[in-house]
Amino acid sequence: MVAFPAPASSRSLAARLAVAARPKHQFRCLECDTPFQSVEDRAEFCCAGHRKAWNNRRAIRGAQLYDLVMAMRFERGMAVKLAIGWALICRLASAYRDADNALRAGRRSWRKPQTAIADIPLAYGREGDGR
Ligand SMILES: [Zn+2]
Repeated sequence: MVAFPAPASSRSLAARLAVAARPKHQFRCLECDTPFQSVEDRAEFCCAGHRKAWNNRRAIRGAQLYDLVMAMRFERGMAVKLAIGWALICRLASAYRDADNALRAGRRSWRKPQTAIADIPLAYGREGDGR
């Protein structure tokens, strides 16, 4: 009689052994700069916690920029009154970069441009991005 479902450890044993046999590559963590190894061709973080910390920073900064850009585009009168424009957005980006330089030895805090642009659909329908 076969137990169902099979325990996770036995279900993926062959796959885990195949992964473990792959050659390891050297990387440095974008969040903490610690050297680490991975069997992946591209890896950027030494652990899930550092991937989350890095992405949380992006999410917070992105939300700040999003609100400014949307106000600049769709609440033009208030944006002008509050001096929300490209100069403010560029100053904010410079402040983020200054923090990266001071606190994270200048490590990149944004995704590579080719990755960022590849994730944006070329056209949205009337439902926008669906959210
Ligand atoms: Zn790390």
